[in-house]
Amino acid sequence: MAFPSRILNATKDSLELVSRELLAGGVVALPTETVYGLAAIITDEMAIKEIFNIKNRPFSDPLIVHVLGFNDLLKLTKLEDDSANLVSQLVDAFCPGPLTFVLPKAGSVSPNITASKSTLAIRIPAHKDFREVLLQTRVPLAAPSANQFGYLSPTTAEHVLNSLRGKIKYILDGGPCEIGLESTIIDIAKGQIKILRPGAITPEMLQEATGLEVIKYRQMATTDPSAPGLFKRHYSPNTKLRLFEAGQNAPKEARIAVIHMGKPDNADEHTFWLSENGDLTEASKNIFSVLRRLDQCGYDKIYCEKAPPIGLGLALNDRLNRAAAKFP
Ligand code: AMP
Ligand code: MG
Repeated sequence: MAFPSRILNATKDSLELVSRELLAGGVVALPTETVYGLAAIITDEMAIKEIFNIKNRPFSDPLIVHVLGFNDLLKLTKLEDDSANLVSQLVDAFCPGPLTFVLPKAGSVSPNITASKSTLAIRIPAHKDFREVLLQTRVPLAAPSANQFGYLSPTTAEHVLNSLRGKIKYILDGGPCEIGLESTIIDIAKGQIKILRPGAITPEMLQEATGLEVIKYRQMATTDPSAPGLFKRHYSPNTKLRLFEAGQNAPKEARIAVIHMGKPDNADEHTFWLSENGDLTEASKNIFSVLRRLDQCGYDKIYCEKAPPIGLGLALNDRLNRAAAKFP
């Protein structure tokens, strides 16, 4: 069924409206600090299934659940004392924020959320509007990115509208996402922190906060949906995307757009940059927006410069590699 889809400014009334819609089993798009999410309450099986249908997402790819704080996280997971202490330490250091924990799940969590896995991906988001909705629903929310499966993640309410028009009633507009890349996902086992998806919380930050060894994420050569979070191709534009190393020259042709991290000296009308001075925080915030915009410009190809492979550059390059993997 097609709905008229509305973007709502985040007023008191619209926060109440979307919270009621969620409690009635609806699916709505909400802003987070990472990317926009497509949310449903975790206690409504039909609404959870509807998330997968709307996104065209395989049921084998589990969802991230969002809660207000550590106590709610404990209710949905089953932690030994050691890992509870470590999670508590990480929550103190980075949450609310862009860090997702993969943890053994409590029996009450539906297998439809976790793709029948024994683990649950869970995070404590920082965006004030998302938190206000969580306060009002008092039920945790499952929310993957609010895009069609495989396409670039949405970082504005308009991006969501462009992808999901007619499929959802409400998109709560909380402004452009501050971080612009999906959360860092970590797995904690045997006293180690393993990064399943790099994000704004970097390996260096995790190591400094805990003193523990952090196993860095390595791109897996797989499209196997049984390895969740590790799809090699993801976040792709429709226009062919190629990457080039910093310092190399990309081809200069009229039907090719070239994206740089910072503003280059020899820019022409087909040259774009993610941040005037190459700042990686700003570049991450802009990457999906710039790719979406250029995807609609009719270019034959987009060339994008890789980020330096340190700190946030790891997450940015991960998204660029996956976006380019569709075009061998
Ligand atoms: P999205 O919310 O669309 O950014 O995607 C959530 C990511 O979390 C996906 O890549 C999932 O495969 C991953 N994920 C969710 N649950 C788990 C889990 N239990 N173990 C590993 N990865 C997970
Ligand atoms: Mg996604």
